[in-house]
Amino acid sequence: MRLAVEAVLDGLGLPVPWTIFDIDWTPGSPLPMTVTVGPRPREAVVAYCDPHGPWPETVVRLASDLQDHACEVHWGRPFPPCPGHTHPLATGVAGGVAVWECPVSPRHHRSPILPDGTP
Ligand SMILES: [Zn+2]
Repeated sequence: MRLAVEAVLDGLGLPVPWTIFDIDWTPGSPLPMTVTVGPRPREAVVAYCDPHGPWPETVVRLASDLQDHACEVHWGRPFPPCPGHTHPLATGVAGGVAVWECPVSPRHHRSPILPDGTP
């Protein structure tokens, strides 16, 4: 799961690297997983996702939550930027894979949120 969080953070194209301070989830627990991340400890934010659902939806939820936090912390900039457009990419599921895609036209840009081989 840490690799998935790192891949999402990489994909956001943040101006400063974010650190993963904590990932809290007990296997078998019905509670959502919490991921504490941020550029600095005092600017840490908490993202939630439900690791019990289908994996692509879990990744989308996590990416979407982290994206919202990134826009709050580094306000006014699109994360991740849509190539050639001024808006950020949107999250979605295409063909069973969690993707970043252009909210106007997925044919303009679509790329997997997690690189191949991420567990
Ligand atoms: Zn676009």
